[in-house]
Amino acid sequence: MKEHLQDKIFQIISEAADELGKECYVIGGYVRDIFLKRPSKDIDVVVVGSGIELAEKVAQKLGKKARLTVFKNFGTAQVKHKDLDVEFVGARKESYRQDSRKPVVEDGTLEDDLNRRDFTINALALCLNKDRFGELIDPFNGLEDLKNFVIRTPLNPDITFSDDPLRMMRGIRFSAQLGFFLETNTFDAIVRNKERIGIISKERIADELNKIMMSRKPSVGFILLEKTGLLELIFPEVLALKGAETKDGIGHKDNFYHTLAVLDGLSEHTENLWLRWAALLHDIGKPGTKRFDARLGWTFHNHNFIGEKMIPEIFRKMKLPTNEKMKYVQKMVTLHMRPIVLSEEEITDSAIRRLLFEAGDDIDDLMMLCEADITSKNPEKVKRFRANFQLVRRKLKEIEDKDRVRNFQPPISGKEIMETFHLPACSTVGEIKMRIKDAILDGIIPNEYEAAKTYMQQIAKEFKLSTVKEN
Ligand code: ATP
Ligand code: MG
Repeated sequence: MKEHLQDKIFQIISEAADELGKECYVIGGYVRDIFLKRPSKDIDVVVVGSGIELAEKVAQKLGKKARLTVFKNFGTAQVKHKDLDVEFVGARKESYRQDSRKPVVEDGTLEDDLNRRDFTINALALCLNKDRFGELIDPFNGLEDLKNFVIRTPLNPDITFSDDPLRMMRGIRFSAQLGFFLETNTFDAIVRNKERIGIISKERIADELNKIMMSRKPSVGFILLEKTGLLELIFPEVLALKGAETKDGIGHKDNFYHTLAVLDGLSEHTENLWLRWAALLHDIGKPGTKRFDARLGWTFHNHNFIGEKMIPEIFRKMKLPTNEKMKYVQKMVTLHMRPIVLSEEEITDSAIRRLLFEAGDDIDDLMMLCEADITSKNPEKVKRFRANFQLVRRKLKEIEDKDRVRNFQPPISGKEIMETFHLPACSTVGEIKMRIKDAILDGIIPNEYEAAKTYMQQIAKEFKLSTVKEN
């Protein structure tokens, strides 16, 4: 295994540990990722002794190039060197109480330390001491599980999950991230312990959800969350999408699986986390707007607007950022049907201009989301939609080259309207502004100052406004 410990830092840690006469190992995710050929910059080092003492010695040897941070309360320390981030910690033994994920911690052996790890694939260690340099410690056959793509807890899974329920989320996250399978006992224990997720902070759950979202095929994670019963507890709004009802022989698609198909499809084209969130939430308003109409069948009127309105509450509850990222997700959800509706009708310049105006710089993201939303089981239908969609794309480009309305700013400001007609700030000013904007978007006048000014004078007549101040 020595070949994987080529970086000079491992030599330095090795020397430092030998000088202190302490056993020392690289451990956990870094070792796992060596075998998975996923290069990583975060290195965890466990020493049977004081992590802080070893870190100080390593920092000393590295000299000025290293940055040492000591976390006295945790008994840990971090050394940053070049682009590497090494965490040092003493081997620990932990015991837990029912109501908390804060364990009682004591010093322990390497074996104790590996026992408290979450999964066998994360319980691998490589020795750094000179006489055993590169020796692999693998008490739970983690290497075998790595080869078979299996996620399994090292000890009794009921205890591992009950001790720290975050591990249930981590297990599902690793399945999604690495494309691994949850071993049956491990899966069943999540089902039995799911309620314990209640003691985990929303922030940590959101971190894991974001990692699931960023995996190559996020549906793997969401399907496991659903099957284990965790989804109901952490994200009931998404679970509510599940199920397909039939009435009078008319069914609608299962919006949970449709949503996941959209999310997976979109994820093939973008690493944008928030666009992926928009895909997950694009139909979130459907369950609340579902109606059956004898004539129209199943309808979900205004589900995009209802969805947009649901998002702030969801983001707040889940401790996701309620800033411009959220606004972007809301915008995508509101507009998600626009391009496709367009492609079904005759595509007018005016409709294209309005779409460009509303989407602004996010138009390409919106088009990507909308294209991923085409998931019909009928291949003919998909083909027709995609062809129409290409037409929308062409038209968008044409209009954009011609009319520059992507980040449209009305050529005449409210201030100018007020000054021209000696108006106070009032609804008439807003109305004139809107009429000018509509005229431009509808192609009645070009997007230019002079044309807009002339047009403004015309509307003014309707409003019986005068530019001359009356005494
Ligand atoms: P990633 O860095 O991608 O999140 P990782 O496995 O490296 O994955 P870290 O949070 O960096 O995860 O933790 C490093 C190691 O610490 C893990 O590989 C595992 O051995 C251990 N570990 C982390 N969190 C837990 C936990 N909640 N329970 C048990 N062991 C854990
Ligand atoms: Mg890590």
